[in-house]
Amino acid sequence: MKRLFPFALMFLAACGAGGPTVQLDTTLSSSEARQYFGAETSASGGASESIGFYSNGCLAGGEQLAETGPTWQSMRLSRNRNWGHSELIDYIQTLSQDVARNTSWAGLYVGDMAQPRGGPMLTGHASHQSGIDVDIWMLAPDRLDLTVEERENLSSISVRAQRGASVNGNWTADHAEVLRLAASDPRVARIFVTTGVKVWLCENVTGDRSWLSHIRPANGHHYHFHVRLNCPRGDGSCQNQPLPQGDGCQEAYDRAARILNPPPPGPPNNDPPPASPPSGMRVALGNMPNQCPALLSGF
Ligand SMILES: [Zn+2]
Repeated sequence: MKRLFPFALMFLAACGAGGPTVQLDTTLSSSEARQYFGAETSASGGASESIGFYSNGCLAGGEQLAETGPTWQSMRLSRNRNWGHSELIDYIQTLSQDVARNTSWAGLYVGDMAQPRGGPMLTGHASHQSGIDVDIWMLAPDRLDLTVEERENLSSISVRAQRGASVNGNWTADHAEVLRLAASDPRVARIFVTTGVKVWLCENVTGDRSWLSHIRPANGHHYHFHVRLNCPRGDGSCQNQPLPQGDGCQEAYDRAARILNPPPPGPPNNDPPPASPPSGMRVALGNMPNQCPALLSGF
């Protein structure tokens, strides 16, 4: 808090105003939101509400996914990121039951969801801020009685080959079925997967292919897939991300082609590297939706 004083004094001198408002304004504009949201250890209470956008938002009334259920386990409990909107909790529980019933998988290993009050994180993600994103491991669970320690140390598996252009020997038909089940829930907006997974699905899925439009190729996402829900009904401050038209297969083929045959390097780039880290990670509190700073326990 010490470093805020010179700014507060400047305000006092310039405006002749005093009191806590000055300090609050200064704090909002100069403080990294991730420091505040990353420090929250409990939810804000009340009904769940997603506020803002996936990469600039927060979560009121977060619920915690049970660490272990009949068809799921939360992984890496030390991160305290097994929080989400009540719709996300229901989605994960329902999907894990469907997976256990319809595939060889015993259920799901659930990775990062959101922090207790959502918001930007100190490490790892630009999105996952509004409580409606979840990472699900590509590793098929064969047991759902992992200890807390095992859940810290066990690693997922990668399904990627050729730097992401195709899938490797870890990929199975059951992975495709898990993704079909995951994408068929009408609450789902997008599911991010490594490009090779989308290519495999485009080339192999027969029958109903309508769910393919929700599967989007992305960098990374070969140890886990990332499910993003639509804004829950009634959450008026939540901002959706419209889905492009079509099944997205051509985009995936083009991405794979660029991975396999990257364009030749252009003329040398002497621009200085960008000064700021990826968007969403270092946003100031004052640049978040208004409701977000108000959710913090310190305000
Ligand atoms: Zn994710």
